[in-house]
Amino acid sequence: MRKFLTRVDLLFHSIRLRLALWFVFILGLILIIFSSLVYVSQVRELRAESVTRLAGRWEEIEKFFVAAPFNPLEADNLNFGANPGGDNILYRDEEILALYNADQILQRQWGPLSELPSFTFPAQGSNRENETPIRYTSITSKDQRMDYAFLIAPLLSRQNLQGFIVIGIPFDPSGQRQRLLVILITFVSGMLIVALAGGFWLADRAMRPVKFITQTARQIGETDLSQRFNLKKKDEIGQLADTFDAMLARLEAAFARQRQFTADASHELRTPLTIVNLEAERALSTLRSPKEYQRVLQVIQSENDLMSHLVNDLLTLARMDAGRESLQKEKLDLSDLALDVVERLEPLAARQKVTLETGDLPEVFVLGDRNALMQALTNLVENAIKYTSQNDANHNRRVLIATGTHPARTLAWARVSDTGPGIPAEHIAHLFDRFYRVDKSRTRDEDPESPAGNGLGLAIVDGIARLHGGSVEVTSASEQGTTFEILLPLFLP
Ligand code: ADP
Repeated sequence: MRKFLTRVDLLFHSIRLRLALWFVFILGLILIIFSSLVYVSQVRELRAESVTRLAGRWEEIEKFFVAAPFNPLEADNLNFGANPGGDNILYRDEEILALYNADQILQRQWGPLSELPSFTFPAQGSNRENETPIRYTSITSKDQRMDYAFLIAPLLSRQNLQGFIVIGIPFDPSGQRQRLLVILITFVSGMLIVALAGGFWLADRAMRPVKFITQTARQIGETDLSQRFNLKKKDEIGQLADTFDAMLARLEAAFARQRQFTADASHELRTPLTIVNLEAERALSTLRSPKEYQRVLQVIQSENDLMSHLVNDLLTLARMDAGRESLQKEKLDLSDLALDVVERLEPLAARQKVTLETGDLPEVFVLGDRNALMQALTNLVENAIKYTSQNDANHNRRVLIATGTHPARTLAWARVSDTGPGIPAEHIAHLFDRFYRVDKSRTRDEDPESPAGNGLGLAIVDGIARLHGGSVEVTSASEQGTTFEILLPLFLP
């Protein structure tokens, strides 16, 4: 029972029913307007016909009066030339004839009526032809409602008004109007029933793909995003399904990235944790010399640094993803930031035997977050120093930082170029992916003060640039050094 009620409730709220009802409503409106027009035109025709019939009758009756002029004073005896049987030969069945004197007082009447309606008689001297005083009235007689058309004509004798004659004929003797009404009502209601059924069937058919989409969508679990609707239709529903498919594909990719990210993060943390564990175990297994303990603690500290670095980077990325990395934007001079970064990283460069130089540093203003942009530039310069230092000692080891503008594109740029090993072309497209490293073996550095590589540095640079409405571009070739360029919208006062 409950299931049935839910079904009924669903039906009442369904688009199918609403569509069908709207369809029926509009069709009903059209049919009613059409039927009304048909009905009105039929009534008009009947009226025109009754006018002709009345005129014909009047002609016949007028002839009689010309032959035997009417004298209202003798109206009592008037029998319209009754035949020997006493019947009125002018009178016809169902017709109404009534005679009034000049004072509009009823003298005699024939026909199925006991009481006549009151008439407005034409004014004296008015022309009957022009006025056509025809009246339509419904009259109930013998329990039957009849519509009559009346013609009221003055009776003249030598131009003197003698009285009036009222001729009434049934307006619709064969009941055409009634029949038409029945036909129209039957036709309209029949059509509406068919339309309701047909409309519902059509709407049901049109909505079937929607039902299919709903059912399939219900089956798509949170973890199984590989399903697709694959409707392969070009209509609106097909487009909807395609949009859902595209959305599912994006979601699936995003989930896959998320899974990969978690796996990579765990993997990154596992190595230093294992090292710490092994070193601690080894130190604890037997008594060691203070020098040995010192070495172990150094290892533990360096692994700890690595993990802190990784966790910090992960936190930064997570905040960026959640859109919670609140930027404190202010007007900044990029060249200022570049000088700051150079100053801070100078000692590292010196240790790695890399020359850190500044190129042209004109004032370039952008609207940005000081700390975030500093971090982006620091990551780029640290990378440049780290990878350039892997070159031979007698090789040219230089890192150059410069700033400038692209006036045509209203962009500011900060560029970090190095003379390092370069990046093979096939890796360029993935450089900004999280945890992506060109050569995994190159990450652990001998210099304990050098930043550890975890493959997140460039992803963070890219994220920061995007948060500022900018981007990062890279040009590199194997053995020819690398240039990274952060592009940011110019500050326009
Ligand atoms: P990592 O922490 O490994 O440096 P990044 O995201 O900063 O991670 O960089 C990703 C990869 O891009 C690095 O592993 C490295 O192979 C390559 N790379 C980045 N900068 C340079 C550079 N200046 N010269 C050569 N290779 C670079």
